[in-house]
Formats: sequence, C-alpha cells, structure tokens
Amino acid sequence: MLEVLRNIVQEVNAAESLPDALEIIVRRVRDAMATEVCSVYMRDPETGRYIFQATEGLNRDLVGLIGLDPGEGLVTLVAEREEPVNLESAESHPRFQFLPDIGEERYHSFLGVPIIHQREVLGVLVVQQAERRRFDESEEAFLVTMSAQLAGVIAHARVTGAVGVDILAGEGSAAKVSGVPGAPGIAIGTAVVVSPSADLYAVPRRQVDNRRRELRAFKEALDKVRADIQAVADTLTTELSPEDHALFDVYLGILDDSAIGAEVAGLIKTGEWAQGALSQVMIEHIRHFERMEHSYLRERAVDVKDLGTRVLAYLQESAQDERTYPDRTILVAEELTASSLGEVPRHKLAGLISVRGSGNSHVAILARAMGVPTVMGAVDLPYMRLQDRELIIDGYNGTVHLNPPAELKQRFQHVLDQDMALSRDLEALRDEPCETLDGHRVPLWVNTGLMADVTRSLEQGAEGVGLYRTEVPFLLRERFPSEEEQRQTYRSQLAAFAPKPVTMRTLDIGGDKSLPYFPIEEDNPFLGWRGIRVTLDHPEIFLAQIRAMLKANEGLGNLQIMLPMVCNVAELEEALELIRRSHRELLQEGLSGGLPQIGVMVEVPAAVYQARALARRVDFLSVGSNDLTQYLLAVDRNNSRVADLYHSMHPAVIQALADVAKACQVEGKRVGICGELAGDPQGAVLLLAMGYDILSMNATSLPKVKKALRNVSMQEAGQLLTEVMQLEEPQQVHQRMERFLTEHGMEQFIHNPVE
Ligand code: PEP
Ligand code: MG
Repeated sequence: MLEVLRNIVQEVNAAESLPDALEIIVRRVRDAMATEVCSVYMRDPETGRYIFQATEGLNRDLVGLIGLDPGEGLVTLVAEREEPVNLESAESHPRFQFLPDIGEERYHSFLGVPIIHQREVLGVLVVQQAERRRFDESEEAFLVTMSAQLAGVIAHARVTGAVGVDILAGEGSAAKVSGVPGAPGIAIGTAVVVSPSADLYAVPRRQVDNRRRELRAFKEALDKVRADIQAVADTLTTELSPEDHALFDVYLGILDDSAIGAEVAGLIKTGEWAQGALSQVMIEHIRHFERMEHSYLRERAVDVKDLGTRVLAYLQESAQDERTYPDRTILVAEELTASSLGEVPRHKLAGLISVRGSGNSHVAILARAMGVPTVMGAVDLPYMRLQDRELIIDGYNGTVHLNPPAELKQRFQHVLDQDMALSRDLEALRDEPCETLDGHRVPLWVNTGLMADVTRSLEQGAEGVGLYRTEVPFLLRERFPSEEEQRQTYRSQLAAFAPKPVTMRTLDIGGDKSLPYFPIEEDNPFLGWRGIRVTLDHPEIFLAQIRAMLKANEGLGNLQIMLPMVCNVAELEEALELIRRSHRELLQEGLSGGLPQIGVMVEVPAAVYQARALARRVDFLSVGSNDLTQYLLAVDRNNSRVADLYHSMHPAVIQALADVAKACQVEGKRVGICGELAGDPQGAVLLLAMGYDILSMNATSLPKVKKALRNVSMQEAGQLLTEVMQLEEPQQVHQRMERFLTEHGMEQFIHNPVE
C-alpha cells in the first residue's frame, strides 16, 4: 500500500499543471481502490463553488462546466464537515443531489474526503461504486492518507498552473504566493533564480535567444566529462578485467550524440537553456530506470544521475563567468545562504526570496541588517520557472506577486514611495538622542557581523554594538580562522566603534548555522550541539577566540564578551574560568588591559528561571529573544510551516522578558536585549517600560525605533505594559499595540497587506 501511495504522489508531483495532476489522481486512485468512479471537485476561491474538475468513470465532457454551490449536495457536506462522508446508499441521504447528465445514477455507494492544505479546504476527492456497500475502514483510511499527501501538491500545482500560462502563451495570469516576512520593505524587480551547485533537481527553467551558444556550451561540457571518464578508465586499465572495462564504454555511450545527448540538444533547439534541457532529459531517464523491474537496471539510474551531475557541474562553471544581474534583481533560491547574498552587487539587489526558511532564519537576519526586502518560506512558489519574470515582493507581509497587473504595481509603487519619504524623515533624527517625551534616555545599540554593517551603523547613530555575531567571519572562510586572523578582524570592529562598547559573542554555531568546514549533522539541531556547548567541547577553538578578542582589545578597552545558549550555571562557570585563564596568560605574555565585562545571553527558558543566579556571576545579561521565543513556544524559528505560531509578542514571551529584567534589577546588573524584537517599534515600547537598559538591533531598524520612542513617555509606556500584561492572546497584544501606535501618530509603522 505504501508503495502505491508513494508512486502516486511521485507521479502527481511530476505533473506539469493542475489539470494534469488531477487527471493522474483520479486515474491512479480509481485503479488502486478498484472502484468504478473517482472524481475531484475543486473549490473556486472566488465563488466558493465546488467545480467538477476531473473524473474517471463519470461524464468527462462536463469537466470544468458544472459544480455545486455551498450547501448543495454531498460534496459540499464533506467540505463543510472537513471529514469523510461514507455512505452505502448516497441517494437516501437528505443532502443528496443529482448533478444532471453527469452519469451518477448508477452509483450508490459514496465516499468523499476533503482535500485540506494549511487548514484550507481546496476540494473534495470522491469515489463511487454501483454496489450498495459501505467502503470499509481500510479503504477510507487509504483515501484520507492519499488526500492528505496530495493536498500540498495540489496547492502547489494551483499556483504553478497560474504561472504556467505565462510560459506557454507568453501572457501571464497574476498570482499571489504567501510566505513569511523576512525583511521589511517592498521590492519591484526581476527574478534571478540561483540553484545549488550541480543538483539536477534544482535547475530553473530558462528560455534563451542564443541557442547556438547553449549548444556549444553543452558540447564542451560533454567533451570534458568524456575526457574525465576516459582518464579514469585509462588509469584503471591494468586493474580491471576486459568485461569491467566494457562498462566504461557503456557509460560513455550514454552520452553519445545518438542517445541522451541528442535529446538534450533537441530541447536546447526549442529555446531552453543548456542546464534546463540537460536536467529535464536526465530526470526523465533517471525516472525511467528507477521504475525498472530488474534490480541491475534499476541501479543504472545512479550512473545516469552521476553522469548528468558531472555535465551540469561543467555547465554551471562556464555559466558562472557570464552571469550578469539586471538592475533591481530579486534573488530567488530554494534555500538562500549568507554567501549567495554576497554574489549580487549591492546596488543591483532589490529583494530576496527563499522558498525554505523562516523570518528568524539567520539569512533573514542578515537581509534585515542589509535592509533588503525579503520573503522567506514561500513554499508554493514555482521558483524554478521564475527566471527573468517581473515580481513584487512585500517583505512586510511575506507575499510574492507574480505577473502583477499594472494597477497592483502602481499601488505597491505608492507604498515604496511612502517608505522612501519615511526614511528621509528618519534621517533627520540621526543626531538626535533617543529620549522619551519625559526625558528618559534609551541607548540604542546595533547588531553587527559584517564589516559593511559598521558604516551603516555609525551612519544611523548607533551608540554601541550589543551583539557582534562572530560566526559571520567564520562562515565566510574555508577553515577556522587562525588566532591572528581573528585578532585582525576583531580589532577593526573594536577600532571602528571605539570608544563605544562592542559586545562580541563567542562562536555560536549549530542550529541553522553550520560551517562548511565543520558540518554538524543532527536530527534535531536546535536542541543539539550548538553555541556554548560546541565551544566548551572544543576549548582549543574557544581559547583561540578569547585570546584573539583580548589581544584585539589592547589599547582600546571597549570590548565586552558575551556567551550564547547558556542553559546552566556550570557552563557559565566553565566558560568564565577559560576566559580568566586566557586573560592571566596574556598578561604574563606582556599584554596590558583589564578583564573586559562579561555577559550571558538569555536564550533558553532555563536561563529565564535562573536569571538571578546567572546575573550574579557576570556583569550583564542580554536576552536573545529570537531563540528564547522559539524555545518558549516550541516553534522552530526556521520552519515556515509553523511560522504563524512564532509570536514574538506572545504573552508568555512578554512575561519572560519582564521576569529577566526584574531579576537583573534585583541583582543590580545591566539588562539588554539583542533579539529582533528590540528592532520592532512595538516591541521597543514594551521593553522600555520593562526597564531594559539597552536595546540592540539591526542598523536598519534603529531610526524607526528611535522615532517611536521619542514619541512616547515612560509613563504611557508603563501604563500600556500593565494593560498588555493582562492580555492572554498574542492577537490581542498585537491589536492593542497597533492601536497604541495609531493613537500616537505612528500609523506608518503598521503595514497592512496591499490588495
Ligand atoms: C537571538 O537568539 O535572539 C540572538 C540574538 O541570537 P541569534 O539570532 O544569532 O541566534
Ligand atoms: Mg540566538
């Protein structure tokens, strides 16, 4: 059964359009269940009507032409109840209603299951039989399983279909795909799709004019692979039997002009670029081999895949040198990485879309720091087909608009213009202090990682660095940086801000941040080996980093050290001991300078409950609200499927933040926050009221937060906090905060979707 399910899902997945997908579903499900009829009714989102959309067994001529309004018939009953309806004799049910001419009269038994994706009923899958019988439990369970698995594919095909029109006919129908907000702002631009290297399954479709050049590139890549394989065969001549050697000939034969090579060339001649043609042809052949009965032949799929991958790698290598980026590039990838951001010249980069990941993925944090509008987790986006398309991304609400009509474009352009006006307005505040209406000063610090952040931060009037993510320079290398390399990097950070304080966090890898040269593979990385756990297990890495920081601080004295992911006192004691030891040893080596201030990040619930014990041992605490929210709410910050449960102002989070501030106040220690909440004008008002001494945020948010805090008084913020602390639902907190902003003339910080 599992095999049948898997095969059907695989076939449906490979369908080119929604009608194709539905055709496959009705045909394959009817066969698998050995029933007489299988049909799909799809809900029309505009009218709510359930349209008869595909059938095997009923009158196909009526497909797409008839349907049922809500409240009519058994199909809509399934949708209303959001559960299966299983009847021995459909016509005896009070909701039964014939659809004329469809040919249902003969069929008595009826089993309908809803097709639900992300809580939305997309349609209903129905099987029918002439015999009067209830479908048995296992049949019902099969159909439910089938439908649950297909829902995602159908939702995806619905959007892909809308865009597909564009590819085939040259005219696009507009479509909107929802993801989650990654970095605020609007971008109107042209899609450039980046694919991971040499992955046949991740090659975007692309039409080209210069077919001859593509053919040449393909031929050159083929020749290189042939030469590589020949070279391997030659070195093995003495070790292989003549039969084994013949295998290499077979291998080379696959690439022959007469075989796969000719098919690829044929596709290139229709206008597809070489990489796309290669991937489509190879995938087709791999599938073909995989479906073979004989295990020897089935295993040949691996060879075909290997060959295809090799050719693709050469094609990508030559394309790399030719890549140009249009003005207002919107970079689209299945999974954006920090390094892919660096590929596009900044002045050409208008926006980013990542199919995977969420608003608190580290790449989104980088995008916010760079001020590039970003949408994450756009899982239904047919990203492989978007090359050169015009797109709009709404980074405030996390939506992507494909083929936008002129009128919609105008509305977004209007929002963009307003944003520009706001940033000009905010620029004027640059040299003004962040002071509430009743004269309370709030130091605004920045989070940094790249050297480029430094200039931006200073331009925005940052008063210090609350979080320097040291893993960023680690990420950009091919091995651990040496102590001296680190010293130089840290020195330039410290020198750029001196005498303003710079809080350097010790290496925080693991979770979604793994170093290419130190991969950590775990089933549950956010609960695994990450942050301080890694560095305490590798004192040689920790000590080199601390020594580099202390050396870099010589003569400047503005360094502070901060420890990530601490979840018990023992970890802290151990880290403190190593820091003190390094300091002692460096003094013996002739270094001057005192021990810098040391702090702990509060990122896990345990640290909230032990905030006083931790605070007592250090100079300051700083809340990492990004992780704290994920751990308090048990919502993976990187998973778009649960992104709507990630509430940075959930009452539990607010309570925890208030408790940490209180604990520090009792212990007489400084308390700061360096999670993204600090950069949200709404969050900042609440944090001010809780008594946070320092708010540290990405440079882009700083002017907005300054503007918000200069508009309120400490007393009003206090009253608001008391009120908010009584609320029990995140939505209520949001509504209350939005009302507060509106009452204080700050509607510009509320971003409702553009319709
Ligand atoms: C946090 O968790 O809030 C934080 C600031 O650290 P990072 O986002 O780098 O995990
Ligand atoms: Mg963190």
